[in-house]
Amino acid sequence: MKRRSGVRGARLVSPTTQVDRGGPLAARRVSDYWCAEDHRTSAAFAADVDPPNEWQCRVCSGPSALERGTAPTALAPKFCPRTPYEFLMMRRTEADGQLILADALAAMRTGDYPRAGAGPRRSGSRRTRT
Ligand SMILES: [Zn+2]
Repeated sequence: MKRRSGVRGARLVSPTTQVDRGGPLAARRVSDYWCAEDHRTSAAFAADVDPPNEWQCRVCSGPSALERGTAPTALAPKFCPRTPYEFLMMRRTEADGQLILADALAAMRTGDYPRAGAGPRRSGSRRTRT
């Protein structure tokens, strides 16, 4: 059985259990924001501070403005997936591809293709011509 040190059931820094109930709340003001999709988002701020001009929409996460109809349109998502060809072109140049192709074609014409150790090849996936 694992032995624990310290006082069981208590943390070193425990949160206080004291709660102010029934006390006066700080004055606050609710501001409404509208996004470009016309979603309304309400946010409460302290009464003595100015609400920010822009807030995030709770529905579409786009930018929302205090005045209805003035919110900027959300930017396009930054994630743009790359195709396998783009990943290939990041690693190789066009000249590399021509060299590899010429090498493979030359090996194929001499009957040396696929070469041993050129990569994992399963015997079941090899095509046989009749
Ligand atoms: Zn929205």
